[in-house]
Amino acid sequence: MKAVILAGGKGTRLGKAAIDIPKPMVNVGSIPLLEHQINLLKKYGITDIILIIGHLSEKIEDHFDDGSRFGVNITFFKEKKPLGTTGGIKEIENRLTEDFLVLYGDVMVNMDLNRLVDFHKKNQSDCTLVLHPNDHPFDSDLVEISSENRIVQFHSKPHNDNLYYKNLVNAALYVMTPKVCNYIEKGKKADFGKDIFPGLYSKIKMFGYVTHEYLKDVGSPERLKEVIDDYNSGRIKECNIENKSKAVFLDRDGVINKEVHFLVRPEEFELLTNTGNAIKRINKAGYLAVVITNQSVIARNMCSLDDLAEIHKKMETLLGRERAKLDAIYFCPHHPDKGHAGERPEYKVDCDCRKPKAGMIKKAEKELNIELNGSFMVGDTERDIECGKKAGLITIGVKTGYGCKDIRIEPDFFCDSLAEAVDVVLKYDLKD
Ligand SMILES: [Zn+2]
Repeated sequence: MKAVILAGGKGTRLGKAAIDIPKPMVNVGSIPLLEHQINLLKKYGITDIILIIGHLSEKIEDHFDDGSRFGVNITFFKEKKPLGTTGGIKEIENRLTEDFLVLYGDVMVNMDLNRLVDFHKKNQSDCTLVLHPNDHPFDSDLVEISSENRIVQFHSKPHNDNLYYKNLVNAALYVMTPKVCNYIEKGKKADFGKDIFPGLYSKIKMFGYVTHEYLKDVGSPERLKEVIDDYNSGRIKECNIENKSKAVFLDRDGVINKEVHFLVRPEEFELLTNTGNAIKRINKAGYLAVVITNQSVIARNMCSLDDLAEIHKKMETLLGRERAKLDAIYFCPHHPDKGHAGERPEYKVDCDCRKPKAGMIKKAEKELNIELNGSFMVGDTERDIECGKKAGLITIGVKTGYGCKDIRIEPDFFCDSLAEAVDVVLKYDLKD
């Protein structure tokens, strides 16, 4: 498989960090960002690399030459004028005869590319976009996917402030079939996120590959600083899904939002005080934030799956406004007691996922490659604590929601709120 890297960016917003070099040549650690990308491609056996260059292109050519110094084969395509993210690819389409990877030269990446390519092939996808939740969804291009990961909506920024969106952002890394080139107009400046994808997902098979791995652009001085800090702290290295991550599992009702006893409409969803900031601190500390919630309202037929999705969109939108993100949400739609009028019998089963069973945690462990030892469960009921203990987690009971009243199973820690629970997590981390 070939890779194309869009390395023509100017980096105007980076100011003095990129005055006399093109943006992809800014240093992260002791080497340019672009060299990190090339090392990553090489690690996964992708050694045929085309760099699309423009602004100050000689700096890139001088550094990489034919790539042999880096163990890869590099060729260049020099744009005469900038044609956005799409134009250069159209110009070299005769060289793109099989599936290829597209990377943006200003994005620091560490992810398992084999897993991505396998996903693309398994789904016989025409165009696969890497998607992730980020900490600024309000000003990012957002994508919606079906339960089979097919892309079904594309919301380019800016967004409608009155609507709720899932926090699933186009992370600017793609696997494409040559077919995509048919939809790019030659010689015309255009952008994949803004001009091509919104009209494309209904014409060809586009899939979203969701990951919590590391993808962050260095488009502003603040973001460049974050990337450099993450690099120096070892965070970027750890983020590849080949490595296990620790997680803080969060019950939803009574921990994240106010307990209303059977929440069935988005209007009833209200974040508890300081929840956004608490989850942001979980994100910053490098733990995955994973919601696991029993939603028997589905089995009881009080709420449809679409309504529940809308409630979760509201949760992610409100958290996103506070720059907090959830890495995944797992819910159990089941309930074991049959025989009530109006219920949905297909969900009235004795499942393995309903807490206090540990099925949702086991699923997350497998899908997100979580290290359960040293991970946490935060909840407000005995079910949460019991579930956490079964899975071998450190358990924290909070006094919000049902407040762990009358529980027979003691959590490892008792806290007033999620914010205080996060204090415990961060202190424990230091001790560790
Ligand atoms: Zn279940």
